Amino acid sequence: MATARQTLGEFGEQRVVQDCGCPKCKRPKTLVRLPPNFKCADVICDFCGYLAQVKASSAKRIDQVPKTVMGAAWEPQRQRMEAAIYFPLFLVLVTPDAQYSIFYLSADLQEPAMFKPRNPLSENARRAGWQGFLYDMTAVADRAVRVR
Ligand SMILES: [Zn+2]
Repeated sequence: MATARQTLGEFGEQRVVQDCGCPKCKRPKTLVRLPPNFKCADVICDFCGYLAQVKASSAKRIDQVPKTVMGAAWEPQRQRMEAAIYFPLFLVLVTPDAQYSIFYLSADLQEPAMFKPRNPLSENARRAGWQGFLYDMTAVADRAVRVR
């Protein structure tokens, strides 16, 4: 059984590949999902090779970007920032009654301040010591474009 979070993540990726054209080559329906173990990105354009991350988040309202969104593992994100590597981000907001919206934030509009490390998980946690990050969207909320 997939967890609620995996189901939400899959829903987000499915909506992006169905609803969004490629931001780079502008073709419709060319974005495809990458395998779950592919680390740096979630979708790729099978025409031009453009890569993007997809983040799905439950939200009370879909017309504005939330202040924070749960991210993934901190260490690879930290290393990518050190190398000045950013990936475009699709943010899919989903309400409890399954309404959704999609925001897009291009890579060149991202900055280190929007990635906030969280405390490492406690020793009792299943993934003890694992450290994640939060997207702090307040710094970039006015740069995200609603695409659906
Ligand atoms: Zn493309």
